Amino acid sequence: MAEDAGAPKAGCLVDLKGQTALVTGASRGIGRAIAVKLAACGARVVGVARTLEAMQGTKDAILAAGGEFEGFAADVAKAEDVKRVVDEVEAKYQKIHVLVNNAGITKDGLMLRMEDDAWDQVVDVNLKGTFLWCRAVGAVMMRGRYGRIVNISSVSGIRGNPGQANYSASKAGVIGFSQTIARELASRGITVNVVAPGFITTDMTDVLPDKIKAEVKERIPLKRLGAPEDIAEMVAFFSGPASSYVTGQVVTVDGGMTV
Ligand code: NAD
Repeated sequence: MAEDAGAPKAGCLVDLKGQTALVTGASRGIGRAIAVKLAACGARVVGVARTLEAMQGTKDAILAAGGEFEGFAADVAKAEDVKRVVDEVEAKYQKIHVLVNNAGITKDGLMLRMEDDAWDQVVDVNLKGTFLWCRAVGAVMMRGRYGRIVNISSVSGIRGNPGQANYSASKAGVIGFSQTIARELASRGITVNVVAPGFITTDMTDVLPDKIKAEVKERIPLKRLGAPEDIAEMVAFFSGPASSYVTGQVVTVDGGMTV
């Protein structure tokens, strides 16, 4: 029997040739893996991050593999930035077939000591940002009568997580929001699904002490921390034609941690 080699390798069974896919937070971590994956599936990837420089590594990886990438600098939580980018992308490419709301932040702390700012910033980026992009890109998709929206939540948004009241609330909000718009947009051929990662090795989780990481790994039935590519695989499925009869769903990609 072949041994499980861990995180998925390059290659793509999903055909996105001729499609435009917009990915937020495409500079690093999960967002970079998603951008690279969708480009490998044939999509022209439009990446969004605070600065263009931050996306250079993503761009280099995609171009080196023969893919197409264009970056836009924007703050995902600012309505004027969202409008500027979406207007420009629509004017240039007419359609946006895939939207992945991946940009996210944490500002952890116990609820009783949580500052208003830590609450507001996390909810603004993770939840309001997701709404702003869905509203703007959703209108473009409605005109094209086709769309695939994939929103990134978290297992913290399903089960809660001590020290992450703001983050868990924002990620639970992403789920309720996505289920609602899945119903609102379905008649126009637009699907909306949610991927909820478990513990994935990125800069976001790098800040945690090794002891915590070892404890988490112990609790994961598949006995490894997740890789950004594990999330990108599920996002690619929801981005492609094979998922056309699936909408409003939440899929947990966590090595079995929440089973
Ligand atoms: P990361 O911190 O490595 O990357 C986050 C990305 O979002 C970066 O590209 C960052 O520049 C971008 N970003 C943040 N705020 C932004 C803003 N206001 N405007 C534009 N871009 C902004 O994080 P990651 O681990 O790759 O996480 C990606 C997504 O997955 C997030 O939504 C996160 O909540 C979610 N997630 C991660 C994990 C994990 O274990 N790493 C687990 C569950 C969910």
